[in-house]
Amino acid sequence: MKYSKATNYALHTMVYLLTLPRNSTIGVQSLAEMQNLSPTYLSKILTKLAKGGLIESTPGVKGGYKVSKPKDEISFLDVIKTVEGDSNLFHCSMDHNEGCMIERVMTEAEQNMKDDLDNKFLIDIAHDMEEKNSNTIKGKANEGN
Ligand SMILES: [Zn+2]
Repeated sequence: MKYSKATNYALHTMVYLLTLPRNSTIGVQSLAEMQNLSPTYLSKILTKLAKGGLIESTPGVKGGYKVSKPKDEISFLDVIKTVEGDSNLFHCSMDHNEGCMIERVMTEAEQNMKDDLDNKFLIDIAHDMEEKNSNTIKGKANEGN
């Protein structure tokens, strides 16, 4: 199995955003610093997450990103699908007339993993993280109104 680095950063970013206090936002600069990324690179990932309806940005000096779905409804699969698309990881490269047995097994295994990831919610990770390093995260958030 292989996931792109973008998925890696997207999952970490979403968990950070879920730890923010209600109505608070955080800027791309702070999010990028936390993960040692260039803001330009992270912006592309944030744009995907925003297009997918998982986050939204608010303009202005105190603007930034926040989660735009109910916090307890965002699964790992939601984020992965948003970044990677929904196509299968494995594709048979042969030309079988009657379908590929190998692809069938691989696709079934992948489906099991997808089902699993769709039942794992980022909020649970966020709660754990919040307890560990709440100071660093809240220190960088912009207070909402
Ligand atoms: Zn095949």
